[in-house]
Amino acid sequence: MQPLKVGDCLWPNIRLVREEERPYSLERNVVFAVFSGAKAEVFCGLVTNHDILQHSSWIFADLVAQKTLFSADPLLDVAKALSLMDQHFLEALSVMRGSLFLGVVTRSSILTALLSREQDLLKEALRLKVVAETKHQQTMVWVERLAALNDAARSLLGVLAHTSIESEVLQAGIEALCELLGARYGAVGIVDDVGALTEFIYAGISAEQAHQIGRLPQGRGLLGVVIGENVSLSLADMSKDPRSAGFPARHPAMTTLLAVPISQNGRVYGRIYLSDKYSGEAFTKNDEQLALSFARSLSLVIDNAREIEEVKRARQRLDYIAHFDALTDLPNRTLFSDRALQVLAQAQRKQEIIAFLFLDLDNFKAVNDSYGHAVGDELLKAVAQRITACLREGDTPCRMGGDEFIIMLTNLHDRLDAAKVASKILLCLSEPMQLRQLQIYSRASIGISIYPDNSASLDELLAQADSALYHAKKLGKNNYQFFTSEMNNAAKHYLRLEYHLRHALDLNELVLHYQPQVRIDGGNVIGMEALLRWQNQALGTVMPDQFIGLAEDTGLIVPIGAWVLRAACKQARIWQLAGMPIRIAVNLSGRQFHHFQNQQHLLELVLDVLEETGLSPELLELEITESVLMHKLDVTLDTLKKLKNIGVRISVDDFGTGYSSLSYLKRFPLDTLKIDRSFVKDICTDANDRAIVSAISAMAWQLKLELVAEGIEDQEQLDFLGGQQCSFGQGYYFSRPVPAEQASVLLSQSAIIGH
Ligand code: C2E
Ligand code: MG
Ligand code: MG
Repeated sequence: MQPLKVGDCLWPNIRLVREEERPYSLERNVVFAVFSGAKAEVFCGLVTNHDILQHSSWIFADLVAQKTLFSADPLLDVAKALSLMDQHFLEALSVMRGSLFLGVVTRSSILTALLSREQDLLKEALRLKVVAETKHQQTMVWVERLAALNDAARSLLGVLAHTSIESEVLQAGIEALCELLGARYGAVGIVDDVGALTEFIYAGISAEQAHQIGRLPQGRGLLGVVIGENVSLSLADMSKDPRSAGFPARHPAMTTLLAVPISQNGRVYGRIYLSDKYSGEAFTKNDEQLALSFARSLSLVIDNAREIEEVKRARQRLDYIAHFDALTDLPNRTLFSDRALQVLAQAQRKQEIIAFLFLDLDNFKAVNDSYGHAVGDELLKAVAQRITACLREGDTPCRMGGDEFIIMLTNLHDRLDAAKVASKILLCLSEPMQLRQLQIYSRASIGISIYPDNSASLDELLAQADSALYHAKKLGKNNYQFFTSEMNNAAKHYLRLEYHLRHALDLNELVLHYQPQVRIDGGNVIGMEALLRWQNQALGTVMPDQFIGLAEDTGLIVPIGAWVLRAACKQARIWQLAGMPIRIAVNLSGRQFHHFQNQQHLLELVLDVLEETGLSPELLELEITESVLMHKLDVTLDTLKKLKNIGVRISVDDFGTGYSSLSYLKRFPLDTLKIDRSFVKDICTDANDRAIVSAISAMAWQLKLELVAEGIEDQEQLDFLGGQQCSFGQGYYFSRPVPAEQASVLLSQSAIIGH
């Protein structure tokens, strides 16, 4: 408030008089202001009752004349005016701006003004007091709210300190928020990545009530809007909103609603809602801000928690991938090695027997090639399950890759226990498997090495089991073999052979020898069988029995087989052109014939080679064995028919060793049967063999097939066969397989014989 000025306290009881007038009344407290001039425009001074009483007969001019004129500016501070009055014993003081008379102040007018000012101040003070009190009350409310906010913030901090959102934390959070906003009800709902509610927590509703209500329908109604559209909703009456889906049964009725999404970077993790303030008011913008800030904090925690969860899961996944085979879920090589090393260290201390079983499926490639990789994968899974079912708890199966498995059997009483488990596994695997509407028969071979008998080193034990496996395969598959040191050498030899075979074609190490096929009654050569030889610097001459199986296992048979066909046809064409048109018999292995893509490949190859060499198709005879013939009958029949259509001849090699049935033989477009040399060998001494050869001859005659007896070594055998209906023979008796030049000589002589 401004300090009081003279102008603020003018004395009202004032009379304006002219100087020639004589005072006429003595009204109390009246002050006379005396003016002179024609129009009374000049102020001359003040006269008080006190002056008049002293000179009661004087006119105003005289009264004024005896006094000095004092005046004050209206803006003069009253304190100064008072002190001026005290100093000059003045009862009144004129107030003037320049020469302009404005009024009068007296002690009493100043006092009155001061008093009234004080009263105003008092009133103001009172008003301020009231204001202050109200403010105080408001402040107290705010203090309380701040305290609550503080609590809520602490709850929030508690929430933030968590890396996972547990229900208690959410409970504390929503309760704090309800309290802060004075809301009767509140709830937090958390949804997962696909929007399903994973967490739902109420405040203001008892657990029992909440249980009765159950979960709110997800994705519908107002809360669905909040989550679906990631927006806040503040409604004075939610039932009036057209988007409302109503309350579920037993849900308390609610009117106002404040719902906010819990979201972060556009990802919605859930929503918070509050309802019905105790004050009955609607929720304000401030309330919404608070709820949003709570939701934002919550979303950060959830975001964080989910990230941590994802990292954790990714780590677990990596850990799993590092130790387990993804297809079969069996331990992989790494985990297996770890365990095996531990087990071996323990076995050393406890003097235990450990067995390592190296298992390889016999027909996996065929399944993969014929039915595709998906079925192959199914087969591996089924095999893994069957193997596991045959094991005890302490045993460890492992998939090494491809169709190879290793099984470690621990704590064996006896070495024979390993054999028992191996045969159990083989038996288990031989049961047919139903895979994708296919019935698959799976066979396996197993190699076994034993600690401590064979070695103490894991690497060596595994290599030994591998050698034993190789041996089991060589013995006709579907069996198990224990490792012996001889096997080791065989396995090493096999590896060496494989290494060299891979380069055999490039190094031109393959050669064909030819063995004549002879008409038994005339002795003239009607054909030549092409027989493969491999001449390697380090290994010397390697016979086909030693490397054809290897070539099949490694897939090298495909390029090698193509080379043989081409070389044989070329030679036959040379002979044809030289006036010696004899048949050339070329062996086809099972893998060459049955490899998935080879059916077509084989046909194309034969056509190409015939075209390339110019050889007449009827001079080419393809030899396949009985087992090849009987495998996958439909496909085989189809391929044979196509080959036949080209004009090529088909002959069944090693006949009698397989299980062909007569009815099947009839269906195939065959030209020749070749009696296996094992029957010819003892034909003169063994009545059984004789009977078999007779039966085969009769059958061939009936089916109108040419019959070739293999392995004729002497005259006696020849004589016997001549007595049967066997027209042709092949064997050392006529000639060993010989290089092309020698074969040419033989042919020219035979041509003479033939004449
Ligand atoms: P195979 O087709 O039954 O061939 C006949 C085998 O018997 C040849 O052995 C031949 O040397 C041998 N042999 C012939 N006459 C006599 C005899 O009087 N006494 C005895 N003890 N043996 C005789 P080789 O050349 O060692 O061939 C063995 C097998 O290797 C062949 O049996 C054939 O299955 C396979 N083979 C040979 N060359 C090829 C080829 O180019 N491709 C394929 N896929 N397999 C081939
Ligand atoms: Mg043959
Ligand atoms: Mg043969």
